[in-house]
Amino acid sequence: MHSSVEEKAVKCIRCGFCLDACPTFRLTGNEADSPRGRIYLMRSVAENVIPLDQDVMKHIDACLGCRACETACPSGVQYASILEEFRTEIEERGQRPGLQRFARRQLLNTLTNPRLFSATLKAAQVLGGSNGHQRYMPSFAAEMLTGSASAPVTLPAVPEKVSVGTLPEINPAIGEKRATVAMLAGCVMRVLYHDTNEATVRVLQQNGCEVLVPRSAGCCGALHVHNGYLEDARQRARTLLDALESVEMDAFIVNSAGCGSTLKEYGDLLADDSLYAERARRFAAKVRDISEYLMELGLRPPKGSLNLRVAYHDACHLAHGQKITAPPRKMLQSIPGLELVDLPESDTCCGSAGIYNLTQPTMAKKLQQRKIDFILETGAAVIATGNPGCLAWIHQGLKERGSAITVRHPIELLDEAYRA
Ligand code: SF4
Ligand code: SF4
Repeated sequence: MHSSVEEKAVKCIRCGFCLDACPTFRLTGNEADSPRGRIYLMRSVAENVIPLDQDVMKHIDACLGCRACETACPSGVQYASILEEFRTEIEERGQRPGLQRFARRQLLNTLTNPRLFSATLKAAQVLGGSNGHQRYMPSFAAEMLTGSASAPVTLPAVPEKVSVGTLPEINPAIGEKRATVAMLAGCVMRVLYHDTNEATVRVLQQNGCEVLVPRSAGCCGALHVHNGYLEDARQRARTLLDALESVEMDAFIVNSAGCGSTLKEYGDLLADDSLYAERARRFAAKVRDISEYLMELGLRPPKGSLNLRVAYHDACHLAHGQKITAPPRKMLQSIPGLELVDLPESDTCCGSAGIYNLTQPTMAKKLQQRKIDFILETGAAVIATGNPGCLAWIHQGLKERGSAITVRHPIELLDEAYRA
């Protein structure tokens, strides 16, 4: 076992402050489903005290990777980093049954290849079993992925018509030019939320930014980092850095929380790569979430008003991964007429968590339902959130409950206010 799991795990003083923050512990009450319990398990495996068996894997697989425990931890334990290395060990040791291993890898490769993802979604819309608004993954695929035939896998809500969106490579600033930025179009974002990407470009232009979207810049590797494929992720990071090498920019803008969190940690991801470590560190220092960047730059307030009651859900990789909670709220509050209302447990995971809603359907559904209950209490017409997984999963939960509440990325609301 990689010694850095041990090194990082010893920082845990077992105080238990993280337990209440952990969504899976709150659901099961089982210490092995808590951050402290998982750290203890991972450390025990690393020190060869216990074997890496199916029981250990069950509790590690059940972790959302939401990083709420990092926010709660007084000892500065880098939980996500321990988890990512441990998950990589699981995949590299080939502990998983062959079919499940194959299905997980195929899923990640599909999600991060826009053309393949788009084609797969079209096929899934035909093949996936449907019960009213609810669509299910075909049972053979669900069984391969989860290793169990028991729980149906609900598919997140996606647009009826999917395609691969492409943004112009150069988008000039509107008014006095204040900065040149580059932007990540992403993989899932290009297929499911191209409108959000377009809105992001327009808002940046409105704020005096020239926006570059290099076509050669592809997947950032976030899903691979989070699911135990660190080497794969490193290769994707190197390819992205190469694609951006000659791009002069003041900042690199991201509108997907999961991607932003990984991009900001490229310095750590490539720390042992003598050729890329320094470049990765320099690049990571330029990465900004769209809300964070607009607040730093000084947002040009929109003049159009939106008379809407909006509740904001904190995506885990924004609130806990990047510690960004105020900027998206300030962005929304800058819109005349918009009323921002509190969402209870707004920074608790909705259960989407990358591919978690597909690999751990039972737990994901419980978390989704809890989130929807809180959303319905707010009386909001719109729920705003800055991550594709949350957008699709919360949308699915609301549809299933027959709710007319819409789910939007905050940047789309700001864009609408500029255009109103
Ligand atoms: S809060 Fe931090 S130090 Fe305390 S048990 Fe949790 S991970 Fe360990
Ligand atoms: S990452 Fe989230 S689910 Fe996993 S142990 Fe930490 S708080 Fe719990």
